[in-house]
Amino acid sequence: MESTREVRLEKLTRREFRQALEVGSFKAAIIATGSIEQHLEHLAFPQDIASSTYVAEKAAALLYPDVVVAVPISIGIAEHHMHFPGTMSVKPGSWLAVVFDAVESLVRHGIRNVLILNGHGGNVAPVEGVIQQWRLHLTSTFGNPLSAETSESIHTHTDYTEALLDRDNPGLDLRFNSYWDLIPDELAKEVLDSGEYPGHAGEFETSFALHALPDNVRWDHAEASDPDAARATAEKGRALANAAIEGTASLLRDMLK
Ligand SMILES: [Zn+2]
Repeated sequence: MESTREVRLEKLTRREFRQALEVGSFKAAIIATGSIEQHLEHLAFPQDIASSTYVAEKAAALLYPDVVVAVPISIGIAEHHMHFPGTMSVKPGSWLAVVFDAVESLVRHGIRNVLILNGHGGNVAPVEGVIQQWRLHLTSTFGNPLSAETSESIHTHTDYTEALLDRDNPGLDLRFNSYWDLIPDELAKEVLDSGEYPGHAGEFETSFALHALPDNVRWDHAEASDPDAARATAEKGRALANAAIEGTASLLRDMLK
């Protein structure tokens, strides 16, 4: 494994994964989330999951061998796109259950730093609604135990939350970010003529795809899809993708400190 520098869980055997953990590699994991949904006339269905997975793999490669990329969770919460055939949508409760169980699976194997790297807007509010509950559950179950002294000083639920999560070393770190959040705002505004992102199949996503997922772009249909999409270039996509990769790597470095 050392020679292949593989970061994708789906390409590893149990022996390779076990040995990586034994030597202290894979201290963090990324779970990519996204959606399989229509992206107007010119981008292929997997735009959102393919983008977050792309950023995850490139960031993990930069930090090799500290970070493993778990199997992407392709389908997302996309009821609002179901008018367009081919879109696949999971109901929020079902989807959140799978994401939580995926995180917990990695944590049970000893990985204490997990980044859910998202590529689809429809997943954001549901995760933000539950992530604090997930953190409390996972930290109290798998994180470092509270000292007896700290436990005795807890009198309210607020004390409990603070004692558990706001320690120097809670022993567990779960984050959720969309990849576009990790691009500096000034850079995105400078690169994009429209100044708007992430949008939907507009200048941002189309540029990203032209650079990172060129087989998924039907350029002949871009203009008719959305005039904004026609302003996309692979050059813009490269600047945006590189910024997302660097932002993701720096978030992970911070988690691993
Ligand atoms: Zn999209």
